[in-house]
Amino acid sequence: MNNSKIWLSSPHMGGNEQKFVNEAFETNWVAPLGPNVNGFESDLENYLGVESHVAALSSGTAAIHLGLILLGVEAGDEVICQSMTFSASANPILYLGATPIFVDSESATWNICPVALEEAIQDRIAKGKKPKAIIAVHLYGMPYKVDELRAIATQYEIPILEDSAEALGSTYKGQKCGTFGDIGILSFNGNKIITTSGGGALVSANKKNKDKAVFLATQARDNAPHYQHSEVGYNYRMSNICAGIGRGQMEVLDAHVALRRKMNEFYKELFQDVAGISVFDNPNSDFDSNHWLTAIVVDSEKTNGISAERIRLALEKENIESRPLWKPMHLQPVFESYSYYGKNVAQHLFENGLCLPSGSNLSDEDRDRIKKVFSEIIKL
Ligand SMILES: *Cc1c(COP(=O)(O)O)cnc(C)c1O
Repeated sequence: MNNSKIWLSSPHMGGNEQKFVNEAFETNWVAPLGPNVNGFESDLENYLGVESHVAALSSGTAAIHLGLILLGVEAGDEVICQSMTFSASANPILYLGATPIFVDSESATWNICPVALEEAIQDRIAKGKKPKAIIAVHLYGMPYKVDELRAIATQYEIPILEDSAEALGSTYKGQKCGTFGDIGILSFNGNKIITTSGGGALVSANKKNKDKAVFLATQARDNAPHYQHSEVGYNYRMSNICAGIGRGQMEVLDAHVALRRKMNEFYKELFQDVAGISVFDNPNSDFDSNHWLTAIVVDSEKTNGISAERIRLALEKENIESRPLWKPMHLQPVFESYSYYGKNVAQHLFENGLCLPSGSNLSDEDRDRIKKVFSEIIKL
């Protein structure tokens, strides 16, 4: 039997990516600007539906960094951040000399808990400092509780930076993720729902935010014939080569989202009669995850002691990649000295969860290999 590596999530080309890349070479637009950058931005703007202005950038992390600057975050400010996430959500807070305040998840969407969020805001205000922004994440493609978060943001007048790095193609009440924050961000890293080999974008309903993001991302050059600068700039613009890959990927985005959702169906069927293994799924019909990664939570008291780690090792033995869930930031050595609000929902998920291979390019044979490993360790 074929024993090639089955990845958690690997790049999946659609076919026309190289055509756009070749065009860039043929026209000598081998630079961090050009027709592919503009074309990719307008593809994304059309895709997102509601009025959105998109700045294509070198990474999702760069987009978060610029997003926080646009929201006015400065050294000494406090920024609330969902604890259960990839470190890239939180690192830019430290780039700016600001202080992260971490908040627990709730168990329905695994994203920032509105109750703990409000507790954190009230306590920070009581301690003398109102947080400057809230970073909320759509983990594994699952939308956070959009209405609840918006209500809190409005009540306390704190803007939301929506980390939609994993959620391109997901919707909440029919509206696309990436369009709910005061600023939204996307990622096109190699393992994301679509890739530009590496890249990201900043999304805003306000064109001024896009223009300012592009300005800051191209070294903040003032309008003058010589190089004139009144602000600190960055080199964060997307390459026209990478944007060409992105334009090809946009043609297959919806098809690839459908395939990710099919992988989620596969796992739901696989574990439907298995006590102690639950597949992460939309809590109700308002939520429509792209299922970027399908994750399970394992209750080893009900699986005869089979833990998530035991499953991970069994898959690894067969050259199949799986991975624990994101380790919460408040438990990370680099962040553990910062304040944390909430209980241990995120920690419990981390300790008992596992992400399974979820790529849009997995085959029937891959699914059979995955199923075989499970059938050898649990009763399906
Ligand atoms: C991937 C990711 C990012 C960062 O995106 P890059 O393009 O890799 O810089 C940020 N937040 C989350 C939740 C991510 O998964």
